Amino acid sequence: MNNIYNKIIEHIKNTPVINTHSHHLPDSEFVNADLHFILSNSYANWLAAPPKRGDRAGAAEYINKHRCNSYFRWIIKSLEELYGLEMTADNYDLIDEKLTASHKDALYHLEILKNRCRFEKIVNERQPDPSSNLGHPDLFSPSFRCDCYFSGYLKTKPEPNGFFAYSTFEKNDIHTLSEYLDEVKKAISKKKNDGCKALKCAIAYERPLDFDEYNLSKAEKALNNESASEDEINAFGNIVMRTLCEAAAENGLPFQIHTGMGQLKDTNPIKLLKIIEENQNTKFQLLHGGFPWFSDTYALLHNYKNVWSDTCWIPYLSTSAAKDYIKSALEVSDAFRLTWGCDTWTSEDALGALFSMEHTLSLALSEMVIDGAFETEYAFYIADRIMYENGKQLFDL
Ligand SMILES: [Zn+2]
Repeated sequence: MNNIYNKIIEHIKNTPVINTHSHHLPDSEFVNADLHFILSNSYANWLAAPPKRGDRAGAAEYINKHRCNSYFRWIIKSLEELYGLEMTADNYDLIDEKLTASHKDALYHLEILKNRCRFEKIVNERQPDPSSNLGHPDLFSPSFRCDCYFSGYLKTKPEPNGFFAYSTFEKNDIHTLSEYLDEVKKAISKKKNDGCKALKCAIAYERPLDFDEYNLSKAEKALNNESASEDEINAFGNIVMRTLCEAAAENGLPFQIHTGMGQLKDTNPIKLLKIIEENQNTKFQLLHGGFPWFSDTYALLHNYKNVWSDTCWIPYLSTSAAKDYIKSALEVSDAFRLTWGCDTWTSEDALGALFSMEHTLSLALSEMVIDGAFETEYAFYIADRIMYENGKQLFDL
């Protein structure tokens, strides 16, 4: 690595972090945590189930098969740093023993977040308890996930993590769409008063991000209707999405929207063009750069000052793509609208995600310095903005 990269990464590693998007698990989940639990609750689990203790051949194949993958690369680096051993088939069980022993201290997982990751605040979104601060309000500021309002056209239908819209409502009997939307708005104001710092929508895992059609009578047909058509359910969701945008603006809460990966059918960020255009007072924080459709996010960042980009997950999806993303996103916007979150469930994975961002951000900024875009001092300034100041300002932390 070049000298400028080294200076930038050293600077980043000595500054605190505002982590703008996470799914960190509650304390109780870390009791008796072992390596299998940590890997099973990491992105590496999307590649393959981790080997069990004692399976040396399984560990060898697991490591050889996945070394090239970004999820794997960075959680392994995290485990190696935390437990002081190189990840090899021979060391797999030794790392497991050290990790298991460390988690005997019930607060160890928080120590990693505070001391190793340098997280000062974490905007956390936890299902099925979507506004929980995990009992640690000093560290966690909840983001309220609103996916339940899309499934709430039926009182008995939870969102995929088991959370019911009606559990947040004052009224238990709702007969009209306008009554329903009133309850949604009241629930969001209440969550804001309870300490939530953002709204979150991950509906891209369930439906397209095209909310353009506005048809109240079709939407009304879905309410309390067990045999509503997909078209009617989508029309209902379109109205819900508009209500969420309005409620975000009215309550001064940034609206975090998962873009890109998910069901992959029409989940590219440009699908949000119309609702961004119509809701200029809503602060849209688009997550993941819309990977792999980065150019959609570049266009939205360029044209709309009410669009922010959270780089969470991008360095984990593809480290090399993330470097290019950071450069282009900075070039089309400014130093104030990029943020970063770990987007992980456990502390080991959070540290891996942080390593991946420190590396890609340093690579991106050092290339911009070498290209003559700015001096190294300004690269430090941008790094501080992305890793700290922008999140602190956007979420009022
Ligand atoms: Zn997430």
